[in-house]
Amino acid sequence: MQVVLDDYVVGASFATDLVNTSPRVWVEAGDALRDPQALHDLLDEHGLSPDALRNGRRLTGGELADVQALREEIRSILDAPTSDELVDRTDQLLQTVPHHVRLVPDAQFDYRWNALPDRRIDLTGELTLLIGYSLLGTLRTLGYERFRPCASPTCNGVFVDTSRGGRRRYCMPALCGNRINVANHRQRQRRT
Ligand SMILES: [Zn+2]
Repeated sequence: MQVVLDDYVVGASFATDLVNTSPRVWVEAGDALRDPQALHDLLDEHGLSPDALRNGRRLTGGELADVQALREEIRSILDAPTSDELVDRTDQLLQTVPHHVRLVPDAQFDYRWNALPDRRIDLTGELTLLIGYSLLGTLRTLGYERFRPCASPTCNGVFVDTSRGGRRRYCMPALCGNRINVANHRQRQRRT
């Protein structure tokens, strides 16, 4: 799986969806990443094909547990109280994966910055590189205000807003946004 440094949107949206599978986000729903298939589905939704799962290999329970642990690390980054702290926490995470950054030829743009592992890395390593550089790319390009908590009072989620206008309000727009809409609608009906 290529990690291209100029391309932060895919990794940032994957990071958002990954942290919001945590049982502490939607407490009543529990862990949305409770079995390997759930992680396969999440990777597919984001068009991600990690090298570690080449040739249709299925995830092991151990790999799932490692990604669940990574999820907590990412959450801690998204919760960073300042932009400097966000950079520090991301750097610390990236240092756990031996890699280097290299300018590589690209058919479309002549050259692109890639993050390349120094040796074979596991699934968590690949996702760490993808997410880590995507979060740094978002911060550099769009700013710290794009890292926000969900606006729904019943949700503990957070998200990275890579939208053009930067007006996203919910971590899972279809779910958290809807709950609010339903509540507002009921309130309006009660008033009339
Ligand atoms: Zn939410």
